Amino acid sequence: MTQSIAYLDYNATAPVKPAAAAAAAEAMRSVGNPSSVHRAGRLARRAVERARDRVAGLVGASASEIVFLSGGTEANALALAATGLRRIVVSAIEHDSVLASAARRATVAGGPELVPVDGDGVVDLGALRETLARSREPALVSVMLANNETGVVQPVAEVASIAHAQGAVVHCDAVQAVGKIPVDFVSLGVDMMSVSAHKLGGPPGVGALVVREGVRFEADRPGGGQEFGRRAGTENVPGIVAFGVAAELAHDDIARAAEIAAWRDELERRVRGLAPEAGIYGAAAPRLPNTACFSMPGVASETQVIGLDLAGVAVSAGAACSSGKVRPSHVLRAMGVPEAEAGTAIRASLGWASSADDIERLIGAWTELYARAGAGGAAAESAA
Ligand code: PLP
Repeated sequence: MTQSIAYLDYNATAPVKPAAAAAAAEAMRSVGNPSSVHRAGRLARRAVERARDRVAGLVGASASEIVFLSGGTEANALALAATGLRRIVVSAIEHDSVLASAARRATVAGGPELVPVDGDGVVDLGALRETLARSREPALVSVMLANNETGVVQPVAEVASIAHAQGAVVHCDAVQAVGKIPVDFVSLGVDMMSVSAHKLGGPPGVGALVVREGVRFEADRPGGGQEFGRRAGTENVPGIVAFGVAAELAHDDIARAAEIAAWRDELERRVRGLAPEAGIYGAAAPRLPNTACFSMPGVASETQVIGLDLAGVAVSAGAACSSGKVRPSHVLRAMGVPEAEAGTAIRASLGWASSADDIERLIGAWTELYARAGAGGAAAESAA
């Protein structure tokens, strides 16, 4: 991909793949509501079902288990609402969309019950067991597959077997994992799983909730009965078609994981060499191949993000918020990183169009910022 910036913020959103964009454009030039019985409607239906097969194929689910909707946020909200369960157990490092939905839904135990993570950012399975054993009330358990800030991959299959043994229903936010590592809905053993197209080269505003056959699921909005009666509203045909194309192409990205991980490892090696006092978070745990989360002690995340942006390098400061405001990361805090240090962490995330040159540009610009701040970041803010 030719672009003048070194774009290293794939966990926020990935560039749309040209074939996905072309498929969306073609679908937009066609007319037809997938619910209509005439030929135009049947062609639209065929396009949606082809995409459903492709998305199902990427995540090891059956096509009939895929519910298309507007993205990861809606998938998470629907999963947390649809079982009707009011006891909700989530990990402390979930995405805000899960935490906020959990806070809204949970009325048992005075709010959502949070399961801690260890210093590497991995959910504490013993604490999950203890939390579930505290009450006989059936729970909905939601644990993400890969964290958006650190890339740390969670032991979701173990979570599912512990939770099922306690009679819980299990949801997994797999938004960051799908398209980056192999994801198999069946072997994860969860009941519901969230996926988002724009994290894997599809367009924003479309995603899927995978719902295992037989799970108790009540749609929360009335309407035309689309998506097996689980998500009313005329389907976003161009978005869904593009999602399907991106899902098909994502198999190639997964096959390139070792190459991406080698760039990420080189980045971290150079950061360590330059700034031995820098924290590199989650590095000891199983991680996505594409994500590096590291700090420049004494230099605020925002200062780094702005400095890097001026040098043509796009990264994030912890979680990107819609307001553009940066809060200290609840993920790093949950890992025991002191608040002041968490405020100096940035995230670089790679993807399908990344190159070794992008990494060189990041290292070059980060090195310059580091030098300007003074070794160890002492002169920090004044130099920035
Ligand atoms: N879950 C995780 C882990 C995410 O990283 C994100 C997006 O940043 C979402 C959910 C929300 O997905 P969407 O942007 O499709 O609503």
